[in-house]
Amino acid sequence: MRNPWPLDLPSTVDRAAERRDAVDLAACDAIVVRDGRVLAAEGRLIELAPASQPPADLRVYLGRDGTRDLVALVPSDPAFGTDHDGIGGETMRGLRDLLAGFWDRGAEGARDHELATTAIAISQWHASHPRCSLCGEPTAPTLGGWVRRCDTCGRDHYPRTDPAMIVAVTDPDDRLLLAHAAHWSPRRFSHLAGFVEPGETFEQAVHREVWEEARLEVTDVEYLGSQPWPFPASVMVAFRARTATTAIEVDGLEIAEARFVAREEIGPQVRDGIIVLAPKGSVARRMLEEWYGGPLPEPRAGGPVDV
Ligand SMILES: [Zn+2]
Repeated sequence: MRNPWPLDLPSTVDRAAERRDAVDLAACDAIVVRDGRVLAAEGRLIELAPASQPPADLRVYLGRDGTRDLVALVPSDPAFGTDHDGIGGETMRGLRDLLAGFWDRGAEGARDHELATTAIAISQWHASHPRCSLCGEPTAPTLGGWVRRCDTCGRDHYPRTDPAMIVAVTDPDDRLLLAHAAHWSPRRFSHLAGFVEPGETFEQAVHREVWEEARLEVTDVEYLGSQPWPFPASVMVAFRARTATTAIEVDGLEIAEARFVAREEIGPQVRDGIIVLAPKGSVARRMLEEWYGGPLPEPRAGGPVDV
């Protein structure tokens, strides 16, 4: 993309896969993660030294940050970190709340973004894969938490990442297609997106989803970038594409409304809260601003907010 961000660069955290089996996980500094939330204060990830860590259900090796080893720690207490008010204090926060703050902090924010995303994704995989998919018996974490092994049938199970494509479609006047999904909060608009199906290329998924959701044929499908999106286990693969026609036909079920928007229309609509767009720090926002040619305006204070 023309507006590069630090997540396009090599990671500053060495995942050090060769150390996963060797490291004493209880002796590492920990990112605390549970139920899709991480421990943070003032938009920054909090790392706890071993002496201040809560009792843990699970530790997963995240890698080496400089000379320190880091783990993702899932506290045994489901209420850990939820009893603070969050103003200046440490509290468990969802990734969507933290994205904009990460984005504003450049390379350091990208490091937090990667660690938080990894911790959320891998802990959710553990939570949702307690049993062997072959024989149904319980599995247990091994290899620093990057494998779950079934001791009954011997099968190793690996973390999943499910690709989903997201596409910025423009019409012959270079207006951008924005859609509102039926299950979204009111006024929220974004690009068309969907999971890649088995046997499909990413590009074929782009063609299929745009046809299914808006009955538009697209050309010039071009890769833009990607972003891990652990809700629960996706990586968003971003494209742009063009369409020669503007006769949108939404299915009315998954997509309730879709329209092409010109650059001069979008600023005022965002400012006035008529449309609510993807948050800063998301790949969808990056795609919007790449098309727009710079940062989009912020909604006016006191206007409607996304819920
Ligand atoms: Zn098994």
